[in-house]
Amino acid sequence: MIPVKGYSGKRVGVLALGRTGLATAAALQAGGAMPVCWDDNPAARALAEVEGYEVEDISRPREAAALDLLVTSPGIPHLYPEAHKAIQAAWDAGVPVDNDIGLFFQSFASDEWGSFDRYPKVVCITGSNGKSTTSALLHHILQHAQRPSQLGGNIGKAVLSLDEAADGEVAVIELSSYQTDLARTLQPDVAIFLNLSPDHLDRHAGIGGYFAAKKRLFTQGLPERAIIGVDEPEGRFLSNVIREGDNVIEVSTTRQLKGNGWSVFMRKGFLVEWRKGRQMAALDMRGMEGLPGAHNQQNACAAYAACRHLGLAPKVIEAAMASYGGLRHRCQQVSEADGVKFINNSKATNADSAGKALLAFENILWIAGGQAKAGGIAGLDFSAVKKAYLIGEAAEEFAAQLGDTPHVISGTLEAAVKAAKADAQAGDTILLAPACASFDQFESFEERGEVFEHLVP
Ligand code: ADP
Repeated sequence: MIPVKGYSGKRVGVLALGRTGLATAAALQAGGAMPVCWDDNPAARALAEVEGYEVEDISRPREAAALDLLVTSPGIPHLYPEAHKAIQAAWDAGVPVDNDIGLFFQSFASDEWGSFDRYPKVVCITGSNGKSTTSALLHHILQHAQRPSQLGGNIGKAVLSLDEAADGEVAVIELSSYQTDLARTLQPDVAIFLNLSPDHLDRHAGIGGYFAAKKRLFTQGLPERAIIGVDEPEGRFLSNVIREGDNVIEVSTTRQLKGNGWSVFMRKGFLVEWRKGRQMAALDMRGMEGLPGAHNQQNACAAYAACRHLGLAPKVIEAAMASYGGLRHRCQQVSEADGVKFINNSKATNADSAGKALLAFENILWIAGGQAKAGGIAGLDFSAVKKAYLIGEAAEEFAAQLGDTPHVISGTLEAAVKAAKADAQAGDTILLAPACASFDQFESFEERGEVFEHLVP
């Protein structure tokens, strides 16, 4: 755990008591602060009481005014569609509102750093899709290269549950737009921007707010090195805004970036590093089974660039990538029977991520639907889809958007898998890639993926 610095003896409100909130309360207490916890759900409050925390309704003006700081969790709206009432109460009382990411950056550096041979580094990864994969891949490569590293943030452990920094260590931190939007302190050494496509628009009042939230990691955080995917205009804009000398490594899977700067791009199945007008290295990405599809090449390029900044040799990175096994629920092959492959991509919770999976396979029997995001699946390339099996709230909307592509409304995941199995022929791929949130029928995308895994051979 990383004890929070700067709040010893102070009353700090902790809003929402999930994984992040409980980790924050513990880290505040370890740093000598007095956490005052609240969650709108009585069961979560009861749990915090059992843990011995003070529980109080900090959305009431008097209680809010008694705080020195309010720390909120990513699931709680902090501005749109409307700030939670405890956040509004803190604003009214002039109490600063932060999140665990801000506290992490204030607290990560320790007094021991003077005695370290190599200062620890923090690498932060953001983007609409591929964050977890890139973070896990980077962590895997570092471990393979025997460089001490920890993984946390939006993946695995909450940041304040990480261990205190060790000599030469790299903290790999996945950050969502909710986290970068609010953190009062952002100080990454390296920051990665993978891509941008519409998601979470209700929480950011549209795509402009969503991009602005991610951009803060760079314009506010001022990393010594920024690794930026430039396949969309937002990435090109961001690179232009922050570029100063050699501080940006541009990444592309669609264009060969042979300029005078530093870049990593894909060319005929090879990952190419280019610097100051010449090729520095080329890695053969064909046959890297843990990284299927062009979308994973973008993740690989970004992780490669971060490793090069950290001083790893191309050959070491290549060998480590070859042994990367992939993450559960992300284009993961869960079984194969009678020549039919079953792929769990439950983490494809928006159209772009599902669309990338549709490009990664052939002869697809596609299971999609759930709680749709704005725009649904309009504009995706359905050419590899033999038939779609639609589930959840989005089924009717997706049916209309599929047009001539064969489809059926199955309703539930069980019915969809059954129908797809009945239709499948050798050489087909049954792909769960919902392009939707799961909350209409499941607790989480993980639960949705587990149900799928149980239904397949
Ligand atoms: P995130 O953490 O950003 O949600 P993940 O690494 O968990 O991303 O991947 C979720 C899904 O998004 C994958 O299963 C895949 O379908 C898609 N995806 C992964 N990487 C990318 C990328 N670079 N660009 C677009 N889609 C991607």
